[in-house]
Amino acid sequence: MRGSIKPYVVFYGADLHPKGIHNVALKTNFELMAQAEAAHQAVPAFNIDNLESALAVAQVMQETGSPVIVQTIPRTLRYGGTATYPALMRSLMADSATDYAIHLDHGSSLELAAACIRAGFTSVMFDGSLLPFAENIEKTRAVTAMARPLGISVEGELGTIGGKEEGDTDLESSYTKAEEAAEFVRKTDVTSLAIGVGTAHGVYKGTPHIRVDRIREIHAATDVQLVLHGASGLSDDILRSCIEAGICKINFATELRQAYTRGIRQALAADPNVFDPKLYMPAAIEEIKKVVRAKIEVCRGIRL
Ligand SMILES: [Zn+2]
Repeated sequence: MRGSIKPYVVFYGADLHPKGIHNVALKTNFELMAQAEAAHQAVPAFNIDNLESALAVAQVMQETGSPVIVQTIPRTLRYGGTATYPALMRSLMADSATDYAIHLDHGSSLELAAACIRAGFTSVMFDGSLLPFAENIEKTRAVTAMARPLGISVEGELGTIGGKEEGDTDLESSYTKAEEAAEFVRKTDVTSLAIGVGTAHGVYKGTPHIRVDRIREIHAATDVQLVLHGASGLSDDILRSCIEAGICKINFATELRQAYTRGIRQALAADPNVFDPKLYMPAAIEEIKKVVRAKIEVCRGIRL
């Protein structure tokens, strides 16, 4: 199955470098995750919300040369515009040789996946985890049938990841079963799979019980790249165990949002008279960069 993965074909006008050359550093999730998995590492995936979070992630990528996945949830696209985020990243990364991918996180429909691909995303997720098993397969399959021939990676989800991400319901986590994961991957042809192993989105209220053994079982039963959601707030040791068990993409959203808001609060408190965003936003960017650097170190098993 993996042998049939097509490389991402650059065919959008927007992929042209301002100087007229292709932005060759723009890759798919599949390509970045395959490299990471071969090195027993994971690719960190950072959710961006605005110019400042995009700047923070782009600057760390340029400083470290470390590939990352930049992603947005549908709510972010409604906030800033679907075409805005890929255009922003292409512009910020135009002179960089560091590989990156632009991914739709928790996509909710075939139509949104198509709109994102048209806008220049190189990877899309369809999250049918709340649907009955057969319907999740059917709807995810429709996305892979549209996206895979274009060389676009597709992430599915099976089992539930607790907390709130896109919806307003506060979900309980449920654990993905290895046999169901194998059937799901076989029938949908996804390139990667988000699994429920006890993580939750948002801020953890108690100590989460992460089933590393379940990651290992699913990894043994499937030939698909495995994704961990809800990683904000998990210790570095737990994250390293998850990577060692077979996870090769880890999503971070909440900790970046917390860092952004903390930076603004501190800057405004330090100077109550400041009013120019260009004077207080750099503090928010610096706070996000610290989190991004730390997560890259954990996912790569390196010291930057
Ligand atoms: Zn998620």
